Amino acid sequence: MRRACVIGWPVEHSRSPLIHRYWLKHYGIDGDYVKEAVRPEELARFLGSLGARGYAGANVTLPHKEAALRAAESADEAAMAIGAANTLWFDPDGTLHASNTDAYGFMTNLEAEAPDWNAGRRPVMLLGAGGAARAILHGLLAAGVSRILLANRTRDRAEDLAEAFGEAVEMVDWADRNRALQGCGLLVNATSLGMTGKEALDVDLAALPNDAVVADIVYSPLETDLLAAARARGNRVVDGLGMLLHQAVPGFERWFGVRPEVTPELRAHVAASLGAT
Ligand code: NAP
Repeated sequence: MRRACVIGWPVEHSRSPLIHRYWLKHYGIDGDYVKEAVRPEELARFLGSLGARGYAGANVTLPHKEAALRAAESADEAAMAIGAANTLWFDPDGTLHASNTDAYGFMTNLEAEAPDWNAGRRPVMLLGAGGAARAILHGLLAAGVSRILLANRTRDRAEDLAEAFGEAVEMVDWADRNRALQGCGLLVNATSLGMTGKEALDVDLAALPNDAVVADIVYSPLETDLLAAARARGNRVVDGLGMLLHQAVPGFERWFGVRPEVTPELRAHVAASLGAT
């Protein structure tokens, strides 16, 4: 039986087992996918014995994503550019390989839900400068976006990202985020604001063109206040659940040998766990 796991601290909240177990059953694969609660100080030792523990690989969630990249013996371009890993597998020679599939997940879902999101080649407004924002910046730039406006509450973090990703990324003061929406073709919330239990995201969409796409990577609740406000004024919306489902695809393929599909049935299965249908 092939096995994989998600490693985090804490890890109880992870929706990854729901996704991978759905696929294992759907494709009739004799495998399992479990949660592993691993303290930060124990991560290196745990990863050093991942194969001996019977795992073909793992997902890695907070707070281990940067440390997992350091612990791996090789890494793909996305993981290196993002500076963090969320997916690990063993290469044929037995070495531990790190990947980051968040950019892939975000971009694949965006292309699926709003294929003409970049048709006007207009600027993109990105809110946030944490790990997820870093992944999305990488994805957008790889897709050829030439101007990204980046706003984050903590200015230093946005400045660091703008510096790391080059001149296509332009910093906007958090206080100016509403005004800067003028002329944008895509707005992405990559902060944790709007998530169940967190503060609300305070954004006024009045300046955003009505034909712009609004994406939120927060998936709990599935319909965030940002998406509800965007939908109400006629903007197309892309929720965070699609990114979560698509980022899981490459890992499953590596561990279990089948490239799984993101289907409406899978989406409904995971949405039900978020209290949505
Ligand atoms: P992170 O590294 O902790 O970054 C959090 C971001 O939110 C930072 O930009 C932070 O700004 C901002 N923020 C937090 N509280 C704020 C406040 N009160 N006012 C203004 N800004 C605030 O987290 P992350 O890993 O990037 O994840 C961000 C969100 O994306 C989480 O909700 C996570 O669940 C979600 N996510 C979804 C997916 C998916 O597949 N859909 C994947 C990854 C992450 P500062 O820099 O000023 O602190």
